[in-house]
Amino acid sequence: MTYRKIAMPARKRIALVAHDGQKQNLVEWAKFNRGTLGTHEIWATGTTGAMMEGVLGLPVNKLLSGPLGGDQQIGAMIVEGKIDFLIFFWDPLEPQPHDPDVKALLRMAVVWNVPTACDRATADFIISSPLLNTAYERRVPDYEAYRKARLDKKVKAKS
Ligand code: PGA
Repeated sequence: MTYRKIAMPARKRIALVAHDGQKQNLVEWAKFNRGTLGTHEIWATGTTGAMMEGVLGLPVNKLLSGPLGGDQQIGAMIVEGKIDFLIFFWDPLEPQPHDPDVKALLRMAVVWNVPTACDRATADFIISSPLLNTAYERRVPDYEAYRKARLDKKVKAKS
């Protein structure tokens, strides 16, 4: 497997998402970390974003509400290299109507090696990392080379 690098700028593009049962938890965390969050670019799903804007008084780029496609929008931004961190407080105790979207978002974060916090302790570690405020190159598999190698193998096997 070969790898390639994706550049992350010093000013990170951070996505915030919280399910209803976790919104208060995320609000408290964001309030505590307001100063740090204010030096980065914040993206969020609709309702989470509106809450954050109100509480933090910081500009938040709001996407659609999660169940209406907001999770998918963040997933697409990850694929396009436009999100550097994902803080996603999903609710482990409540079923969600958009569970497939939640799974898809978490999968994309792993596919593209995007640092992800699904709980407050991990979010604390991420936000206090010395790497947060520096440019960083994250390593991802060279999926194109991988796909091509698989295709070549299949074509060879058929001929
Ligand atoms: P919301 O979406 O911020 O619009 O509530 C979050 C989610 O349920 O994924």
